[in-house]
Amino acid sequence: MAERALRGTRLGAVSYENDTAVELAPRQVVAFRCANEHTFSLPFAEEAELPTTWECRRCGAVARRVDGAEPLIKAVKPARTHWDMLLERRTVDDLEELRAERLALLRGPKRAARKSA
Ligand SMILES: [Zn+2]
Repeated sequence: MAERALRGTRLGAVSYENDTAVELAPRQVVAFRCANEHTFSLPFAEEAELPTTWECRRCGAVARRVDGAEPLIKAVKPARTHWDMLLERRTVDDLEELRAERLALLRGPKRAARKSA
């Protein structure tokens, strides 16, 4: 009890100003529903760009807007593979040539030496 009596609040942590006569910014309420049929609404500023999905407050699943707004599908640039990058530097003919060289090395004297050992 004594501890509780001594507890205070840090300056700035709590506002003692009350809400009376405060005009809130214009807002809109958007409803969301998750795959588990949990429905909830969130207030957004009127000029805010509304999200199309929100994490469900009850189960954490992705909830979609009840009004049916679909998430925008961004044009996804296909990832460049190592093969793509290689083809930017060399032609397939070059690569065939390199492969032939490497295979010749692998099948060459070294391998013969190993076999005889
Ligand atoms: Zn849910």
